[in-house]
Formats: sequence, C-alpha cells, structure tokens
Amino acid sequence: MDRRKFLQIPIAAVPAFLASRVFGQERSKFPLSSAMRVRGPVVVSTWDSGVTANNAAWPLLRKRGNAIDAVEAGGRASELEPSCCVGLDAWPDRDGKVTLDACVMNGNGDIGAVSFLERIKHPVSVARAVMEKTPHVLLSGEGAQEFALANGFKLESGELSEDAKKEWAEWLKNSQYKPGINVERRPNIILQFAPNYFENGKPNHDTMGTVALDSKGMLAGMVTTSGMAFKMRGRVGDSPIIGAGLFVDNEVGAATSSGLGEEVIRICGTHTIVEQMRLGRTPEQACREAVRRIVKRDPVKAKEFQVGFVALSRTGAIGAFAVQPGFTYTITNEQFPKGKIFEAKSHF
Ligand code: ASP
Repeated sequence: MDRRKFLQIPIAAVPAFLASRVFGQERSKFPLSSAMRVRGPVVVSTWDSGVTANNAAWPLLRKRGNAIDAVEAGGRASELEPSCCVGLDAWPDRDGKVTLDACVMNGNGDIGAVSFLERIKHPVSVARAVMEKTPHVLLSGEGAQEFALANGFKLESGELSEDAKKEWAEWLKNSQYKPGINVERRPNIILQFAPNYFENGKPNHDTMGTVALDSKGMLAGMVTTSGMAFKMRGRVGDSPIIGAGLFVDNEVGAATSSGLGEEVIRICGTHTIVEQMRLGRTPEQACREAVRRIVKRDPVKAKEFQVGFVALSRTGAIGAFAVQPGFTYTITNEQFPKGKIFEAKSHF
C-alpha cells in the first residue's frame, strides 16, 4: 500500500484493540501533559522497546541503587534483546558489519563513550569502563575494541543474525542508503502512528536511550545503538556524542534522542534541551524547541526523517517531542512498575 493511500484511511478504521496494549504494557494514546511530574526514582527510555531497558533498570532504582548502575543495566538488557534493534543482532552497515556506538553520562559530568566498535556484546559497559578507567571520554574502532579486550570483554564471532542477513541481502539488491522515518517494531504502533512502515515494509529504529533519576536525586543516562542501518562504513551518529544523543546535568535534568543522528548532531540536540530546561522551559517545551531548530533548517527534508527527544528534569518532570508521529517512550517508576508507554507529540 502506498503512503498516500494509507494516509487516506481514517484512523477510526484501525481496530482499537491493536492500539491498546503493547508487550502487555498499558499504553497511553495521549502524551503526558507537560506538567507531568513523578515522585521518587524513575527511568525513562526511548521507544516501546524501552520496556526491556526499564525492566532491568527499575529493580536497582527501586532498591535505592545508583542511576548510573541502573541505566547501564538497562543498556545491557537491550543489547541482548533482538527486538530492541540494538547490539550485535542489529542491522549492519552497507558492508555487512554491525558497528556499535554507546555512551554513559553521570549528572556530575563524568562521561564515557565508544564508537564504531565491532564484535563486542556490551558497548554500554565498555563506555562505562572508558569513563572509569581512562583519562579519555571516547574511544573508537580498533582502539575501542582493543581496550574492551584488555578489560575482560570477549570478542564475539561478528556473524550477522539471521534477520540481519536477510535484511542486508534485501538491501544489497538496490544498495541505496535512504533512512526511513523511525518506527516501532510492534505492528499495533505501526498501524496507527507510523504509516511510513508500509512504504518500506520494515521497522528501522536502532537506538535505546535511557535516562534515570535515583532516590538520592542523582541523574544518569546511557545510549546504545547499532546506528542507522546500511550506513557507510565508519559512520558514527549522534548516540555516542555527548551533547547530541545524551546529556545529563544534576543541576537541571537529562535528555536523550533517537532518529537521524546527523540532524541531532547539527543542533547539539540533548545539550540544547538541557540548557532550555535550565532557562525554565519544561521538558516537553525544551524538546519541542530542539525539534523546531531541526525542522527550521530544511522543512521539506524534515518531512522525510524522524528525530525524537525525551527529557527528564531533576525534579521528576518528563516530556518528549518528535519531528514525526510515532515516537514513543516508556516510563517506569513506582506508579508504573511494569512500564507505561507514551507517544510524543510531533511537529508534523
Ligand atoms: N540515532 C541513531 C543514529 O543516528 C539511529 C536511531 O536512533 O535509530 O545512529
């Protein structure tokens, strides 16, 4: 079905039950109001698949654990779960190699990141080791891999998952790099909110971004990703770039992103959001301002890509905003211990 035809189908024609539950989680059809504020520890992750990250992070936060440990646990769980579209089972670059990017940040300014890392199962933990064991903040490629091996990480086979093999073989038929609009993998979301799914027939988001506030009022965040599918070899997106894919400041709040990383890097997306929050904007207003800057640059091109931001303030206010409909995020805390999924408002 082509996109125009799909868009002509009234939303009411989509069976309501398909939009009501995801992964057994309660799903809100409407975003949180910008005034939404939660009490106590909380973890917020990009996408419906954020449930996987949050489920691993929440038990630590609930037991008064540190935000940084919680987000790392969330990243590790996502990296092992094929449906999260990150980690070694994710889609490769155009040469058929999975190359991974990840970062972690503490609210006090400690940072660590890896980019263009191959054959290592847990890039988020390598990023944490960069933060804790080196005088640097970002290691890349072969050097990052050597550092990982020297620190006890195992070299994996580098073989593509069966899914990834198929997708890559399919992609090779035309070999065209044309990032689609990020959509969720679950068909119930896809049907209602991401009509572009029917254009390219596949989900195409590849990033898990997680931010958390712990019981001591400390913030932390992590991002882990395989980056854009079928990217050029060596390409690095926003995810491991502090200030682009992730920014955290205990004085203000934290933000993370998913979507076309080049556009996020251009405006230092998450740093912009945290600075907007510092100036008094709510998380949603701050995310909206970042999206406005992205769209303003090229409003026509912006129709063709997705960028979604989600932010958490140090006082537990949560908000999000995206370029396109279909960007979801998951909140887990005492009120929503199994995670609750929200859809962000969007520019288009
Ligand atoms: N932001 C990621 C990147 O550009 C991709 C994604 O979110 O799907 O590498």
